[in-house]
Amino acid sequence: NVNRHERDREVNVQVVLRCRPLSEDELRLNIPKVISCNEQRREVTVVQSNRVDRTFTFDKVFGPKSQQRAIYDHAITPMVNEVLEGFNCTIFAYGQTGTGKTYTMEGGAKAKGGELPVESGVIPRAVRQIFDTLEAQKADYSMKITFLELYNEEITDLLAPEEYPRSLEDKSRKSISLMEDGKGGVVVRGLEEEVVYSANEIYNLLERGSAKRRTAETLLNKHSSRSHSIFSITVNVKEASLGDEELIKCGKLNLVDLAGSENISRSGAREGRAREAGEINKSLLTLGRVINALVEHSGHIPYRDSKLTRLLRDSLGGKTRTCIIATISPSIHCLEETLSTLDYAYRAK
Ligand code: ADP
Ligand code: MG
Repeated sequence: NVNRHERDREVNVQVVLRCRPLSEDELRLNIPKVISCNEQRREVTVVQSNRVDRTFTFDKVFGPKSQQRAIYDHAITPMVNEVLEGFNCTIFAYGQTGTGKTYTMEGGAKAKGGELPVESGVIPRAVRQIFDTLEAQKADYSMKITFLELYNEEITDLLAPEEYPRSLEDKSRKSISLMEDGKGGVVVRGLEEEVVYSANEIYNLLERGSAKRRTAETLLNKHSSRSHSIFSITVNVKEASLGDEELIKCGKLNLVDLAGSENISRSGAREGRAREAGEINKSLLTLGRVINALVEHSGHIPYRDSKLTRLLRDSLGGKTRTCIIATISPSIHCLEETLSTLDYAYRAK
């Protein structure tokens, strides 16, 4: 059976590409575009007048006119359904700073009750889909949220109730550590887990955590471009009761806004420079290696080499699904970074 065979060999990593539109400022300055997207053919072409065009194919391509909703409906909805079936899924936004990672994940306007704003990103839409589905099924469920940031290979809890430290070097803040649980997973000790009962509660947590991330940004220039954030939703759905035993489907959705990909090339070029750049490098580089190893069915997956991949270990590889949303700018000024993003994303396919 060919279909069966194909499915066994299937790698559950999907790579989609999104190109943002030129900003109003860029339009006013008449900045030339070097990117052309063909959504039907799932192709992105880098066009330069003095060079041969380069074309990359992805699982899906979203051009500058794509709406938040289109990306969600075509790339994310099936993954969220899998989470509700008890699988662990991870969605990454990968790309140069300023290309729309946070816009794609969180979106432009705060979600409240009722209709979602058209600018809402993947996180509020996923939250909505999860609650709508569970309520339609009249399911018996419980849900919890964690929201953390990884900066310099150190974890900060974005949901912790105490004030963000005055200085990022402040050692008085609660330390969070990773411990292996002996079953292939990892336990994050000291991390706040919020039990939630409604979509609105989650929207508020997202807002609170993002605000904290922004505060850190004003304390340290470029903080957000160098930090990774992971928003995780764990859903337990009661399936059936067999006598005294309960059957529970437990799925997890990780939504990851990665550090700007320019940090890879920058620090790679100047070896031994700031420790900071090197450490971010470590998580981003290791993520690339882990995904390559998974895609190539390599025996050794280097999860242990960075905190990001240790944190996500139970959600990468095996019976899980991963989606990488690679974001790029169409501007000629971003050309070098765009090519490196396209290469990285293409290798993950
Ligand atoms: P990143 O998180 O990758 O650094 P942002 O998400 O902050 O980038 O996006 C940079 C700017 O571009 C923001 O002002 C954002 O609103 C805008 N932007 C990004 N992607 C889009 C898009 N697809 N449509 C409209 N505006 C966008
Ligand atoms: Mg951002």
